[in-house]
Amino acid sequence: MDIPFVDLKAQYAKHKVGIDKAIHNVIGETAFIGGRFCSMFESAFSEYTGMANTIGCANGTDAIELVLDSLHIATGDEIIVPALSWVSTAEAVSSRGAKPVFVDIDDSFTIDVDLIEEKISKRTRGIIPVHLYGRPANMPAIMKIAEAFDLFVIEDCAQAHGAKIAGQHVGSFGIAGTFSFYPGKNLGAYGDAGAVVTNHEGTADLVRQLSNHGQPKKHIHSHVGRNSRLDGLQAAILLAKLPYLNEWVEKRNAVAVKYSSELSGIDNLTLPDTPQDMTHAFHLYVIRHGNRDELSTELKDCGVSTAIHYPQPMPLMPCFSNLNHTPKDFPVATRLCSEILSLPIYPEISEAAVQYVSSCIRNHA
Ligand SMILES: *Cc1c(COP(=O)(O)O)cnc(C)c1O
Repeated sequence: MDIPFVDLKAQYAKHKVGIDKAIHNVIGETAFIGGRFCSMFESAFSEYTGMANTIGCANGTDAIELVLDSLHIATGDEIIVPALSWVSTAEAVSSRGAKPVFVDIDDSFTIDVDLIEEKISKRTRGIIPVHLYGRPANMPAIMKIAEAFDLFVIEDCAQAHGAKIAGQHVGSFGIAGTFSFYPGKNLGAYGDAGAVVTNHEGTADLVRQLSNHGQPKKHIHSHVGRNSRLDGLQAAILLAKLPYLNEWVEKRNAVAVKYSSELSGIDNLTLPDTPQDMTHAFHLYVIRHGNRDELSTELKDCGVSTAIHYPQPMPLMPCFSNLNHTPKDFPVATRLCSEILSLPIYPEISEAAVQYVSSCIRNHA
């Protein structure tokens, strides 16, 4: 049996009528940049997350950069980020001229809240926790530290559409949340797209201006901004897909429950946790195995595609070599990077496929 890691075609096949209609509407109205499909998606996403404002932009990396710019982050500023994430989280900080200050993660794969305080300096301005794999970071603890040290918090929600803590959507705890709608994300566009969500009106205003050449109004350029707009086609596709997001997150959770029951009790294998008061969005289902590389090769021989998110902690990437970090600085992230393996997960994956993947692991683990 061949099991792909993700199957975006399966979702399109199921929702083809609505998505095709959305695309044709945009073309029919030539509403390519901005326009009513963008506004409608922004309103719908605000309603979904329970936020006052959604500002669409070109991608999830820009979303982080735009919030940092709205907070006037620049050279000399330090921003705390977890050691493990997709590179964008730290890249966005560096690209503003600021310094990413990396903090190790814990077994939850999110930032270790007990290690944050010791990394705070006079120059620290904020913290960017990441809800990695769709698993919410410990926001109550992070907000407490942020308040005590007068730091802002930007939540990187790129992998966490639908994730909640005690019923409250991620992205609503800090000053802003940033989302990516990269095609493979829990809510995916058919190209690049992203958004900032915020309850802070000043941030919403400034992010919107910065994303559109610093214009509060056409031909009034109040700030040096950039071009990072959500386009109408992507907005219309996202709007057509959004009504199914909750169902997709539930299905991802059902797949996770199935994996966790099929894979329980195997030596040398650690399964992801799901704390009681959290809704995990299960963008990824990541197991840990002492012999990860061998296991992934064996799964490949069984026709099962897996992936590694990510092979290297961010501070050890060549692009951050100027910071002179060594693996010893991030023992947990370094160890986990050698153990993690992401199993196929998507809403349309069949029970039989999950069963097959699990039995391959059980036979070889
Ligand atoms: C995907 C992702 C991003 C960046 O999103 P793009 O839309 O690809 O720019 C940022 N952070 C995390 C954690 C991501 O997974």
